[in-house]
Order: sequence, then C-alpha cells, then structure tokens
Amino acid sequence: MNTNQHIAIIGGGCAGLSAAATLTECGYAVTLFEASSQLGGRARSVVVENKDLLQQLDNGQHILLGAYSATLSLLEKAGVKENDAFLRLPLQLSMQSALSKSEFSLKSAHYLPRPINLLAGFLFCKGLTIVERLTALNFMRHLQSSAYEIQQDLSLARFLKQHKQSKKLIQMLWEPLCLAALNTPIKKASSRIFLNVLRDTFNGNKKNSDFLIPKLDLSKIISQPLAHYIQTNGGTIKLNHRIRSVREVNNGFNLETNQGLLHFSHVIVATSPARTDKLLMQLPKLKSIQDKTHHYQYQPIYTVYLQYPAEIKLPRVMTGLTNATSQWVFDRGELCGQKGLLAVIVSAEGPHQKLTQDALALNVATELKQLFPNLPKPLWHKVIAEKRATFACLPDLPRPTNRTAQHNLYLAGDYTYASYPATIEGAVRSGIYCANLIANEF
Ligand SMILES: Cc1cc2nc3c(=O)[nH]c(=O)nc-3n(C[C@H](O)[C@H](O)[C@H](O)COP(=O)(O)OP(=O)(O)OC[C@H]3O[C@@H](n4cnc5c(N)ncnc54)[C@H](O)[C@@H]3O)c2cc1C
Repeated sequence: MNTNQHIAIIGGGCAGLSAAATLTECGYAVTLFEASSQLGGRARSVVVENKDLLQQLDNGQHILLGAYSATLSLLEKAGVKENDAFLRLPLQLSMQSALSKSEFSLKSAHYLPRPINLLAGFLFCKGLTIVERLTALNFMRHLQSSAYEIQQDLSLARFLKQHKQSKKLIQMLWEPLCLAALNTPIKKASSRIFLNVLRDTFNGNKKNSDFLIPKLDLSKIISQPLAHYIQTNGGTIKLNHRIRSVREVNNGFNLETNQGLLHFSHVIVATSPARTDKLLMQLPKLKSIQDKTHHYQYQPIYTVYLQYPAEIKLPRVMTGLTNATSQWVFDRGELCGQKGLLAVIVSAEGPHQKLTQDALALNVATELKQLFPNLPKPLWHKVIAEKRATFACLPDLPRPTNRTAQHNLYLAGDYTYASYPATIEGAVRSGIYCANLIANEF
C-alpha cells in the first residue's frame, strides 16, 4: 500500500473494530471514526446512576457460543484470556414455567462423541413425554441428515409445525432458542438462518455448543482490548466523530466530519443498516443497497437489572423462563461478583413494549418471585431498552454483500453476514472479511 492510501472505517462496533484490528495488524494506515463517546456499539458497557451511586452495567446480557470462532480468536490476539473473560458452560438448558410450574432441561452428554452427545441429550431430556422426546430426536436427525439446509425459507413456526413439534416442545425449547439466537418471534423468524445457527452450534467440535457468558464488563472484553490492539499497531481512533456524508472525489472519498472534510482512498462503512442508508445517500451507485435495507424491520431487547440484597443467589447462573415476559435470568453475583444483581432479558417485540420501564421491572420481579419464592423486594431496578437491538431476521431477508458497486467502498456489520442473524460473530466475520478484501487488492 502506498503512502497516499489510507482507510477510513466508519463505526466502532464489533464490525468496525474487527476490520480495523485486521488491517492494522497487516500494516495498513487506518482511521476509525465513532460517532459516540465510546466504542462497542450495540455491545458495550454503560455507566448508570442509581441512588447517587454510579454503576457499570452492560447494555444487554450478551452470550457468545463456542462456535464464535472468529470472535474468540480475534479476542485472543488482542490479549483477552478466555478464562478471565468468560464462564464457559457446556450446553445445558434449564427452562422453567412460572405459570404451569413445569420444567424442561436439556443437557448435552458431553462425555459421548458427537453427534451422539446431542442426540442422547434429547433422548434423556427432562420435562417431555417419551413421544415428544422421540419427535425431537427424529427432527434433529432429519436436520443432521439434510445438513441443516432447506429448499425454501419459511417462518420457523410453520417449519416446526411441518415437523410435528409439539406445543410444549416449541414453548420449552425451540421458541426460547429462536428468541435467543434471532431475537425475532418464531411466527416471523427465518427457518434458514435459525438452522444455520443450529448447524454451527451442533456440528463440528463438541465445544461449539458451549455458552460463553461474560464475567467482566463487556467493554473490558471487546472494545477496550481491540482498541488497544488497533492503536498499538498504529491505527487511529476518533471518538465523538459522526460522519455526516461520504462522497466520491478524486479516486477516493471525502468524509464530512464535524471538523471538516477528510480524504481517504478506501472506506469501510460499519454502521447499523439504518445508519448506513443515510451515509450512502450521496453515492448513487449504491442505491440498490438502500433498496434492500430501507425496508428492514427492527426488534427490541430490554434488559431489566434487579438489585437484591447481596446474599441473594439463584440456583443457576442462567435460567430460562417460559410463558412469561422474562425470558432468561442471569445471576450477576455468581458471574461477575455483582452480588445480588440479577439481569433479566426480555427480547423481541411483545405486549411488554407498551409498559413503562417501572411497570416492566415490577412485572419481571413478580415473575421471578413466582419461580423463586425466597426473593425479597428488589432494592432498586434499572431497565436498559435497546429499541433497535437487531434487525428482524425474516425469511429471505435481502442482505447486501461486503463488496459494493462503488470501487474501494465496503460494507461491514452484522446485517451483511448473510448466513447469520444479528450477532457479535456475524459482525466480527464481516469486519475481517472486508479487511481481507482490501488486503487482497494489494
Ligand atoms: C441488548 C442486546 C443484546 C444482544 N445480545 C447478543 C448476544 O447475546 N449474542 C450476540 O452474539 N449478539 C447479541 N446482540 C447483537 C450484537 O450486539 C450486534 O449484532 C453487534 O454488536 C453489532 O455490531 P455492528 O458492529 O454490526 O454494529 P453496531 O454495534 O451497531 O456498531 C455500529 C457503530 O457505528 C456507529 N455509528 C453509526 N453512525 C455513525 C456515523 N455516521 N459516524 C460514525 N459512527 C457511526 C455507532 O455509534 C456504533 O458504535 C445483542 C444486541 C443488543 C442490543
């Protein structure tokens, strides 16, 4: 690369950081612009004030999978030690219904070879009749023999019905997994993308299906180490720099910043799809991208933090709830030493969106009390609402490619990694892929 070549990366979320890390480690000149005062985008820690106390919380309880190979190896390169950063749990689902007092648990038999470990898990799971277990087992075997592929995409609800999955199986297993993976209700969710996640989780190495739950603040695991890595390798990071427009000029691009125009030879746009639309408006060759992303729908995620007295502990670090507004509850005391703090995830659209934050927190606290009667009244609560947490992962959703019709301008971001829903891994893979496209040009 000659000295006139300088790559601008717009957006400091997982995609932009991964692109910058990959390019700077190969010696390219990179400037990353982030509109906000911190990096991390939709995977970040935030400081909140509670009763005059400042506290660091994550914008949402993120979970990684053992199958997130690109993310895990990038973080390792950036100096993140897995044992310090994550609690690794072999696949184990424990779902409880507050209403019916029923329970479901699935545990992969990790002492057995793959795929028998998983099939045995389905055969011996708790909370289903033998007929339901055999139906689930047959379904899994069918998915494995068809390499988790389908001819035509359709909603997951229809697909599960076609495969005779019972109401209970859907409620206790498939629906919670779909919400966790795609953040889209099963009536709307893409079966193809759901199966891609199942394939990567259940195929290959047994460890692919492990859950990795952050033990540290998310920023300490993702954005801070990656920023340090980028800067150590000579990259520049500019916070509080919102790019207003990108224009093609003199075989390169002018970026309009709050400090005037800056010229770059290459640009990676690594913003969320809604923001990308606006940035590309001055580039008529890219209208087809806007035609795709303009119609995207978005899904929210609410994270309800409930602080109980320090001695309060849940039986497990992670418990699933069904027939409830709350979907997953995490014991942050056990995970990261925030004693007595529970984080409850309420993902995707639903009637809870109409509640005030206080009413939502009360509702969630009441549901937890039904399941864990020993819980006292919470001391305080904090709801973090991410109204556009992810794009809705609908069947046959058009996804733009990383290479665009505009020479030397690339798109990164979770929405561009076409085989995955909105995930950290999709974002990271897209960033690395864009960096490699640029590197391969030289
Ligand atoms: C609450 C919540 C929970 C989640 N849970 C999980 C989970 O458990 N597991 C999982 O894998 N994924 C999870 N996700 C999804 C995951 O966080 C995202 O898919 C991923 O972080 C997206 O990264 P990105 O880089 O593509 O986009 P973003 O994170 O949106 O990054 C885009 C960045 O661009 C910046 N930007 C925008 N416009 C401009 C501009 N004009 N100029 C400069 N900068 C700009 C933004 O400020 C932002 O920092 C969750 C998301 C949320 C919100």
